[in-house]
Amino acid sequence: MSDALDLIVLGGGAGGLSASRAALREGKRPMMITDSPPGGDCTFTGCVPSKTLIKSAADGLDFAAAMSRVKKTVAHIASTEDVGVLESEGIQVLTGRGRLRGRGQVEVEGRILRADRIVVATGGRAALPPIEGLDGVPTLTNESLWDLDTMPARFGIIGGGPIGVEMAQAFARLGSAVTVFEVSDRLLGRSESAASSLVADALAADGVEILTGANIMRVSATGGLGVQVELDRGDQPPRTIGVDALLVAAGRTANTEDLGLDTVGALVDGSGNLVVDEHLETTAEGVFGVGDVTGLLQLTHAADEMGRIAVKNGFRFRRTAFDTSAIADCVFTAPEVAHVGVIEEEVAGQDGVRVAELPMAANDRAIAEGLTDGFIKLISGPQPLIGNRLGGGRLIGATIVGERAGEMIHEPALAIATGMFTGRLAQLPHAYPTWSIGVQKCAAQFFTEVEGRSARSPRRS
Ligand SMILES: Cc1cc2nc3c(=O)[nH]c(=O)nc-3n(C[C@H](O)[C@H](O)[C@H](O)COP(=O)(O)OP(=O)(O)OC[C@H]3O[C@@H](n4cnc5c(N)ncnc54)[C@H](O)[C@@H]3O)c2cc1C
Repeated sequence: MSDALDLIVLGGGAGGLSASRAALREGKRPMMITDSPPGGDCTFTGCVPSKTLIKSAADGLDFAAAMSRVKKTVAHIASTEDVGVLESEGIQVLTGRGRLRGRGQVEVEGRILRADRIVVATGGRAALPPIEGLDGVPTLTNESLWDLDTMPARFGIIGGGPIGVEMAQAFARLGSAVTVFEVSDRLLGRSESAASSLVADALAADGVEILTGANIMRVSATGGLGVQVELDRGDQPPRTIGVDALLVAAGRTANTEDLGLDTVGALVDGSGNLVVDEHLETTAEGVFGVGDVTGLLQLTHAADEMGRIAVKNGFRFRRTAFDTSAIADCVFTAPEVAHVGVIEEEVAGQDGVRVAELPMAANDRAIAEGLTDGFIKLISGPQPLIGNRLGGGRLIGATIVGERAGEMIHEPALAIATGMFTGRLAQLPHAYPTWSIGVQKCAAQFFTEVEGRSARSPRRS
């Protein structure tokens, strides 16, 4: 193994893998330093186990069978990116914890490696909210959840964000009595409020108890994994709820401690995230940050994109900015909530912006499958004057709630990425009866009334 390197990548998750592979494509010699098997959160403790558990629960598997399927799936996907695979691709992999040691230097277990360019891709971990007693009771996080060998009869989840709602529905379907504790007034606080309501309804239909506005006063241990949760719910009487296991899914903390960032002058912000500019370079020249450690979009495909961009920016003269406007996300509940670009609340009151909405109940495929919960919402920018007529504006946002929302969102995402006018979406014949023909029907509302619906100005919810 040579110490003369072009690039050192700290961390072997989605961001680190992408950066290492991007360096190979640039004709460079990368070394990836990883303290655990390559794959990171996504493969071992995030996307892969969670999506397998969701599917297993939907298929009606029992807890033991579901967990066994999770382990097999994780092992399968991990095997496609293990050290052997990476080395066969040409990436040098060193197992251990890396630490910056001044400009262009990284120390790994006493060994000093040198490279002019370094990518920090050390990811994040579950944040522990400041709740009295929380650090003294047994809690589960996305890391320990997958080691459960028996299903908790009563399962509490702190946090009603994407991870919380996905796990709430899956555990409820597996047979747990699930309670979600969400401090704000709705689930999925970053989504369209109509999407939050639909997910709340779907979870309630699966038997999940959703406590919004739930301010947890303190928690205490009751033996084993059991925890008592004491709640203050404003004007409602205080309540104490006992659970047999408590999952904490209330945000993420970046892994920026003990990395030697100060030795190169790379700053972290007040939340502990690694500060990067639009080119993903930190405040230290030649040191880039990608993935969850930056606190930017905490998604696997965003980490992957950041890895590519950071490496190009490190080695090429012309730099590319990391643009999040066309990066889609999806919450994998039933129905799914997929989103890209702006949401309606963000553009309320903006001149010329218009919103078109189509309920899934107006989509023949949804009717045929008996899965009509959901909607498509498209948001267009101001209309340009084309000839002597107004055209449809460019698409700037979309939210889709429905059975296949995560698959449907990429048509609007591509439209945003390419600056497409909504007219293109409306004019392209879509196969009948697909779910995505709804996108065409929805976009048509920017031009004409369709079945009594036309585009309108954005409203504050
Ligand atoms: C339950 C859950 C479900 C999720 N579901 C989805 C989903 O469906 N879709 C989606 O897009 N995203 C999902 N995510 C988010 C996704 O997993 C992350 O955005 C992604 O894994 C981030 O990749 P990363 O490379 O930045 O960090 P990580 O995957 O965390 O990788 C960082 C790696 O660096 C290692 N490391 C840290 N410090 C050092 C050091 N000093 N030296 C060497 N190695 C070090 C860590 O051990 C880790 O292996 C989910 C996350 C969770 C928790």
